[in-house]
Amino acid sequence: MTLLVSSAVVSVLRAMRHEQGVSAQLLADRMTELGYPTKRSALANVESGRRKEISVDYLVAAAEALNTDLLTVLVRCQLVACPACKGSPPGGFTCNSCGAAS
Ligand SMILES: [Zn+2]
Repeated sequence: MTLLVSSAVVSVLRAMRHEQGVSAQLLADRMTELGYPTKRSALANVESGRRKEISVDYLVAAAEALNTDLLTVLVRCQLVACPACKGSPPGGFTCNSCGAAS
């Protein structure tokens, strides 16, 4: 098994940050306020892949700082099945929780 979990999670967190128009500096500041002290430069190392792995603490802080939660991030990474549709919404429907379409 190849462990690419960190990079998958980081890609999703970065995408969410961009979607929300949150700068790296702002995300670092919010994570620090939430009790996970981090700097913009550390965040850049994670997002660029220079730092290969992130901690669960990082993940939880980043998710919260982006106004989402751990489960939503993991679902979007396809690391866990969506609790609403189990990964396969009924024919012709789009899942409101994860956005998967059938
Ligand atoms: Zn779903």
